[in-house]
Parts: sequence; C-alpha cells; structure tokens
Amino acid sequence: MKGLTYQEARRVGRMSATIAVVAVVVAISWCLSGYADSPAGTTKSLASIAVPSGSSGAILGASKSMAYEAHLDSMPPVATVRLKFENIGNLGKVFNDSNYMHICSAEAVGISPITSLKDSWQLRRPLVKVESCREYFIDELTHSEPYLVPEAQLLLAEIGRQFNDTVQARGGGGYRLKVTSVLRTPDSIKRLRRRNRNAVEMSAHQYGTTFDISYSNFICDRDDTPCRIDDLKGVLAEVLNGLRNQGRCYVKYERKQSCFHITVRPYNA
Ligand SMILES: [Zn+2]
Repeated sequence: MKGLTYQEARRVGRMSATIAVVAVVVAISWCLSGYADSPAGTTKSLASIAVPSGSSGAILGASKSMAYEAHLDSMPPVATVRLKFENIGNLGKVFNDSNYMHICSAEAVGISPITSLKDSWQLRRPLVKVESCREYFIDELTHSEPYLVPEAQLLLAEIGRQFNDTVQARGGGGYRLKVTSVLRTPDSIKRLRRRNRNAVEMSAHQYGTTFDISYSNFICDRDDTPCRIDDLKGVLAEVLNGLRNQGRCYVKYERKQSCFHITVRPYNA
C-alpha cells in the first residue's frame, strides 16, 4: 500500500506539473494576443493610415497612447547644452506668408468650413484625429478640435520627426513640439469670438489644413540634456524654412500667440 501510494503520489505530481505548464502557456498566449490589440499596438499604424486623396469625407479615429501624454512639468531651469542652428534671419520677415495664401491653399486641400454640426457628417475630405505621439504633443485645446486632413497630419509628423532628429544629432534630445491650435469648428469659434473678435474671420484653421506650433514652449520629456528655448526655436525655424522652401507649406510667424501658423500646400503646387 505504501509503494502504491508513493507511485500514485508521483503520478499526481507529474499531472499537476503538466497542468501548470499548460496553464502558463495559455496565459502567455492570451496576454500576447491582448497586447496586440492594445492602444500602443494600434497607435503604431496611425502614421500609415492610407486615405485615398479623392475619397469623400469621414472622420478617422486614432487610438490614444497615454505614454505620449506624459512629460515633465516644466523646462529644466538651467540650460547647459547649446544647440547649433542655422541663422535664417529675421523670423517675422522669413515667415510672412499672407492670410490670403494660407486660405487659397486651405481651400484647395481642406474640408469646406463646417458651419453646423450636420456638416461634420458630410465632409468634402476625410479628417484624421491627431493625438500626442513621438513626434509632437497636442496641448489642451480650448479653442479648437484635434482634427486635420491627412496631408496636414503627415506634414505635422514630418516637422516633428525632423525636429527630433536635428536636436538629437546636435547633442540635445528629450524635447517635443507643442501643438497649440488645430481645427476650428462652429463651437470653438463661438468660444474664441467671445475672447477675440478679430481672430476668427476667414481663418485657415477652419479647413483642417492648418495648425499652430508654439515657439515659446516645448515639451520636455527628460532633463538629462537641458537646452535653451531660443536654441530649440532656432532648430524649429530651420526645419520649417527647409520644408517651406520645398513648397510643402506656408508659414506665418505669429508674435502675439508666440507660434508658427502653418498650412499644408497641395502636392505639385
Ligand atoms: Zn494659427
């Protein structure tokens, strides 16, 4: 009886071990399949959303990645890293594309301005929801909504990528661009009008082609390479100058709002 009990006990032991191994394998596969469906996994495909340029309107959603919402509360107080940048001259003179040029481009590439809530379901062009990512940070928007036509979203991502690469290559790092205004809709215009009566008439922001990037504030993700705001602004201006010279965008240097007002241009324009 003693021997049998011992063998039975070993059999039971082996069975338990096998069940445990199977359970672990099942749990791991379950976790992996869950991870693939997680926001981080789907966010990756955001940049590669293919939208036929002639397609009719739709609002394309994008998953939110909380990882890119996180950042330090402020810029490091003492800047010890100096970044070199090309001196392109007086920014107010270099980036002085008129509102007329911005509007012409916006009319060619963008949606028809939304005048009522009903219109947002009948857009001429698709809109992409823009959310904080590796290339840029979307500020808390009080007078606009985070939507752009695909061409403008790609331009914004390109500006952010070139900014990150340039800062990194020159000894900096850990900074992202801060987007402060995107698409203005009837609701956001109403809110803005209460504050500034002149700011909203005929704005390219109503077409989903235009966004503002701050030059007085940058998002700091790490404090190991503290840089001066003026140097970061210089690098951003250099990047924008390059893209503008390639005919990719119109840029206006806004002194009051401390931002670059940028409108995507149609390809081949
Ligand atoms: Zn603007």
